[in-house]
Amino acid sequence: MKTLRLVLGDQLTYTISSLDNCDKTHDIVLMCEVMAEATYVKHHKKKIVLLFSAMRHFANELREQGYTVSYTQLDDGDNTGSLFSEVKRTITAHGCNKIVVTEPGEYRVLESMQTWQDELGIATEIRSDNRFLSTPHEFSIWASGRKQLRMEYFYREIRQKHAVLMADGEPIGGQWNYDTDNRKPPDDSLNIPSPYQTNIDDITQQVISLVSDRFDDHFGDIAPFQLAVTREQALHALNQFIENRLFRFGDYQDAMIQGQPWMYHSHLSFYLNCGLLLPMECVQAAEQAYHDGNAPLNSVEGFIRQIIGWREYVRGIYWLTMPDYAAKNFFGAKRKLPSFYWTADTKMNCLSQCITETKKNAYAHHIQRLMVLGNFALLTGIDVSEVNEWFLIVYADAYEWVELPNVSGMILFADGGYLASKPYAAGGSYINKMSNYCKSCHYKVTKKTGESACPFNYLYWHFLAINRDKLNKNHRLTMMYKTYDRMSTEKKAVIEQDSEKFLASLS
Ligand SMILES: Cc1cc2nc3c(=O)[nH]c(=O)nc-3n(C[C@H](O)[C@H](O)[C@H](O)COP(=O)(O)OP(=O)(O)OC[C@H]3O[C@@H](n4cnc5c(N)ncnc54)[C@H](O)[C@@H]3O)c2cc1C
Ligand code: SF4
Repeated sequence: MKTLRLVLGDQLTYTISSLDNCDKTHDIVLMCEVMAEATYVKHHKKKIVLLFSAMRHFANELREQGYTVSYTQLDDGDNTGSLFSEVKRTITAHGCNKIVVTEPGEYRVLESMQTWQDELGIATEIRSDNRFLSTPHEFSIWASGRKQLRMEYFYREIRQKHAVLMADGEPIGGQWNYDTDNRKPPDDSLNIPSPYQTNIDDITQQVISLVSDRFDDHFGDIAPFQLAVTREQALHALNQFIENRLFRFGDYQDAMIQGQPWMYHSHLSFYLNCGLLLPMECVQAAEQAYHDGNAPLNSVEGFIRQIIGWREYVRGIYWLTMPDYAAKNFFGAKRKLPSFYWTADTKMNCLSQCITETKKNAYAHHIQRLMVLGNFALLTGIDVSEVNEWFLIVYADAYEWVELPNVSGMILFADGGYLASKPYAAGGSYINKMSNYCKSCHYKVTKKTGESACPFNYLYWHFLAINRDKLNKNHRLTMMYKTYDRMSTEKKAVIEQDSEKFLASLS
């Protein structure tokens, strides 16, 4: 029996389930760079460099551990271009009579894999992904019978189950969640540490040349290439975060400062999502920092909640609801994505800054994605699939299982409130409070209407007004509708006029 063990580009983990019981002398581990996956959306160039370089390094490490690896590079003459055709070619070349693979992170790929057994005529075993703390099946049991799913309750159960930040069955510190301590506004005098910087070795250099050559029309800058491409480097990035940034992660989690894309965030999603790091090792490192007195509870709990709470929760929602979730469009949004999402050419400074940083780094932190880029897409009613495609393209940590629920559920409320209890809509005052962007903006954040007013201000009320029939039963918006109702008819008319004019200018 010779088994083909397929390892995908986001499965770069030595303990991945597809390698369990691998017979190193007979089995073939297949890894392949294929055009179909690199271009099904036009991924940011930096993401392609990250994945191809990390895959090549991982393949070499597997060989050093005694595995027989068949690796197809993108520019190999006999590369057939798709996962399925590479699997087929390798089976024939090596005479394999079974395929073993770990379930992919995307419904589209899973659907295709489920046909392989019939199409290829050999047993295909799709194994559960053992890198998460809960399986899609466990999540569906948790979700069944609940009218509304809320991350906070899911998080508490996971925390108890894995005894994370717990003492005698109670959360350490007496509270489950310290978010109220985690909203410090930006402080220009902060001495923010530099992010992790990789060494660009020969392998990465070759991949950079390949990507510059073959993916020139894709969005984004390759240089500076800063990302870890091996597990050893990713562990180094994790240690740097724990030592230099974690202590302030909580305090400045929501803050945005012009010219400071990295703030006190971890920048670990790149590695968690492609398998170079495992969630529990990040959680345990943060928990240890708390016990050693090196980081406060609000930071450590906040960081851990993102990983064992949000990350697991959005994955659960993805597998529970696909493929229907991708088609959700609660507000019927259909505006085309404005071209400045690609060029950053807008007078709205917050958007321009976040897009410029996204282009350069293939990264923006959570509040930039949620309250600037996402908030604008929500308020202006941009087509759900266009927004999803943009977010899937531009970030190096983007995979559909995590991107889609964050975009359709969290920012666009396209699922009508399945994931979030209310739309994350806000006017300019939120952005002004949590950033220093407004100081250098063409628009005035304090002005509510008129030519020079911050567009977020009138667009916010316009969004509530035009979607009233869909939102007025949401008790979390009652206060806002009461405020709107107290406005004079003239003021409402100006809001509508300014909004219509602005929206017309987007096309
Ligand atoms: C519109 C939108 C799109 C997003 N798209 C993605 C995406 O494609 N891939 C992705 O990994 N995250 C996505 N997120 C979640 C979050 O913004 C990123 O995980 C985070 O910014 C990554 O940076 P970091 O590693 O510095 O995170 P930190 O702020 O340091 O957080 C620590 C870790 O927690 C996890 N995490 C935090 N928030 C979330 C969340 N909402 N969902 C899932 N995991 C979370 C990540 O693994 C992250 O590395 C998106 C959020 C929004 C609002
Ligand atoms: S004034 Fe408005 S558009 Fe300008 S940076 Fe502030 S929030 Fe953004």
